[in-house]
Amino acid sequence: MNKKIAVIRGDGIGPEITEEALKVLNEICRKFGHSFEYTDVLMGGIAIDKAGTPLPQETIDICLNSDAVLLGAIGGPKWDSLPGNQRPEAGLLGLRGALKLFANIRPAKLLAPLASACPLKPEITSKGLDLVIVRELTGGVYFGERKTYIDENGAKTAVDSMKYSDYEIERICRTAFETARKRRCKVHSIDKANVLDSSRLWREIAHKTAELYPDVEYFDMLVDNCAMQLVRNPAQFDVIVTENMFGDILSDEASMLTGSLGMLPSASQGDGSFGLYEPIHGSAPDIAGLNQANPIATILSAAMMLRHSFDMPTEADAIERAVNTVLEKGYRTGDIMSEGEGLKLVSCSEMGGLICGEIR
Ligand code: NAD
Repeated sequence: MNKKIAVIRGDGIGPEITEEALKVLNEICRKFGHSFEYTDVLMGGIAIDKAGTPLPQETIDICLNSDAVLLGAIGGPKWDSLPGNQRPEAGLLGLRGALKLFANIRPAKLLAPLASACPLKPEITSKGLDLVIVRELTGGVYFGERKTYIDENGAKTAVDSMKYSDYEIERICRTAFETARKRRCKVHSIDKANVLDSSRLWREIAHKTAELYPDVEYFDMLVDNCAMQLVRNPAQFDVIVTENMFGDILSDEASMLTGSLGMLPSASQGDGSFGLYEPIHGSAPDIAGLNQANPIATILSAAMMLRHSFDMPTEADAIERAVNTVLEKGYRTGDIMSEGEGLKLVSCSEMGGLICGEIR
């Protein structure tokens, strides 16, 4: 199969980790007879330096003309003093908007070889921790009306409003049910329907959507209970779907349960199969250029791209299996290194090479 991939290497460790993901994708091409055409595009700090803007129009055009986008990471102290709309992060928000990516998909899976990195007790994690959070990305309180003003009593007051329309809820719920169909067929919809009107509408639409997926088990859960259940019994969850701010908070909680930022991939999707794939961590300026970064989150993001955008589950499985095997053999980058016996510290490029070797 031929596919076009726009590649944003970005800033900090971005170029190093992206290079390893491309090595792995090339190995997949060799093994399975595919051909991927990569186009490098600028976004973030490097785009500010080279093109004077964090998101050049050419980048948007090339991404729109591709089958998927692979992103390393962007940002760094060099650009921290710029005004908000000229910072590297503005490039990412702008790109998500331009590509109409409304669903953020973040798996949180505790891999057996890294079980000791999980802060939960072994009797909890022994039941498994393998879930996906589907977060609404373009609505809710982060995009609602806001203002800061002096009220009639002279008090400084601020208000943010959480707004959702039925179609926004339905499309993200559909993404969750479709995701569940490719997994263990279970969806928990998270809201605050005991208090918020927007959550009551969320629940009404989630129920209607659930009727279209009778093969998927459906549950409602309040967000405060979900935050508690994630640490009490994470094995009960398969797919969690929720609005923007609840998802922001719950996905960070879930990622912490797996031990390391350097391990976790993510996808942002819109309608259809197109998506943007990136690790959940940032550009780690403290270790940039030292060949010490963990490339696994980016490599697993590439696996998500194969599964979701290219419908290549066998190829995605091959990458995920190779990562697991390399970890089982005791190879670790610095961020996931521990005292354990037989563990071997490797560099970013060695880790990429080992994963390629396992795929071969
Ligand atoms: P960070 O995720 O970059 O780093 C946090 C800590 O985790 C650092 O100690 C770093 O060395 C370590 N770390 C992160 N990824 C690692 C990896 N793959 N391997 C080994 N160690 C890793 O978060 P930060 O320090 O808060 O942010 C640094 C920059 O990244 C900021 O400019 C921030 O705005 C940006 N950022 C970008 C994205 C993105 O590109 N999507 C996301 C978050 C933060």
